[in-house]
Amino acid sequence: MTFVVITVMLCYPVTAPAKTVKQRRRPTCTIFRLCLPEFAQMATNECHGEDRLSAEQRLAQVNQLRWQKFPVLDDGFVCLVDVMGDDSSIVQAARVSYGEGTRKVSDDRTLIRYLLRHRHTTPFEMAEIKFLVRVPMDCWRQWVRHRTANINEYSTRYSLAIDASQTTQADQWRSQAESNRQGSGQALPEVMGQSLTSEEKSLQDQLRRVYQSRIDTGVAREQARKDLPLSTYTEAYWKIDLHNLLHFLALRMDSHAQLEIRQYATALGEKIVAPLFPIVWESFLDYRMNATFLTRLDSAVIQRLMASAAAKNAAPPYSETDFLSAQDPAWAGMNRSRERDECRTKLQNLGLLEIPIH
Ligand SMILES: Cc1cc2nc3c(=O)[nH]c(=O)nc-3n(C[C@H](O)[C@H](O)[C@H](O)COP(=O)(O)OP(=O)(O)OC[C@H]3O[C@@H](n4cnc5c(N)ncnc54)[C@H](O)[C@@H]3O)c2cc1C
Repeated sequence: MTFVVITVMLCYPVTAPAKTVKQRRRPTCTIFRLCLPEFAQMATNECHGEDRLSAEQRLAQVNQLRWQKFPVLDDGFVCLVDVMGDDSSIVQAARVSYGEGTRKVSDDRTLIRYLLRHRHTTPFEMAEIKFLVRVPMDCWRQWVRHRTANINEYSTRYSLAIDASQTTQADQWRSQAESNRQGSGQALPEVMGQSLTSEEKSLQDQLRRVYQSRIDTGVAREQARKDLPLSTYTEAYWKIDLHNLLHFLALRMDSHAQLEIRQYATALGEKIVAPLFPIVWESFLDYRMNATFLTRLDSAVIQRLMASAAAKNAAPPYSETDFLSAQDPAWAGMNRSRERDECRTKLQNLGLLEIPIH
């Protein structure tokens, strides 16, 4: 038993009390395999080490990405301006007194995955990224709610407003969602879209003309802009640490976020964060984006569902009737329960419930 406890402390130096470097040296894989299964797996991963990018390779990678404009919507983009840190900066912060050391990428991977899985978030604040983004104002309004970033935005008091508005193609108009008051439903018919798009164009043209004529008449730019539409593009530098960026991406890549900002978040994540921080990105997808969070109530529903299925010798996917019999007692008397709906969706995604064919 003593052996196991000591080995655990050696495995995870972040929470271990201060020790000398010699004491912290990683035990051999053979010793690890004698320990708890989780640490045996960590050891297996660590044995398959690769080399990190050299400083020169990293610089070349960053330079290749820097200022590359990844298009979003019809006239927007995201681009990398600067980055501080890489996957190993997070590891370095976690193993605060270790320095660069001689550890391999696979060691980093094990630790980063552990940190992200257990929401040990501060090491991720050690990396920072600065972007330049071009975004329509309606989207930007949602974006700037994320207070943990630093922003410097194009000023329409000093300069003429950017002469570009986000337009919607005839086949891109969406109906109001029936089940979610905040969201979109199905695509609207294209004939209807054609008229919406042409109406949009004449409105945007007119508002731009009014703006330009105010400017030509000598109205101050800060006042002339007030009737520009929310579809007008703005540009800004946006700098944020990796922890808060992942929080932004988790919220804004999610299906509950508006499609337009989702496209920006996805471009930031897939085009820029993924290549710069591949291990963090992989962990983020595994433990945040593609993970299922089960509440106490959800777990109890699953337990009741499985117990009743075992008694009937039934295999999944189970029916809606089975689900309703196993639901939380507090939901049972309700015609509509958002929590029950969320639980149902999770169980469908896990393959435990039938997915109705509409
Ligand atoms: C799908 C969706 C729908 C939304 N709908 C609405 C809506 O209808 N109306 C609306 O007003 N907003 C809405 N929002 C915005 C939302 O409420 C948040 O303001 C936004 O997502 C920023 O999140 P955040 O505060 O966690 O992020 P950040 O501002 O980046 O903050 C990150 C974290 O830092 C901490 N933090 C930052 N500032 C403070 C502070 N002052 N005090 C304490 N802790 C702090 C918090 O832990 C916070 O989670 C919506 C967001 C989403 C994703």
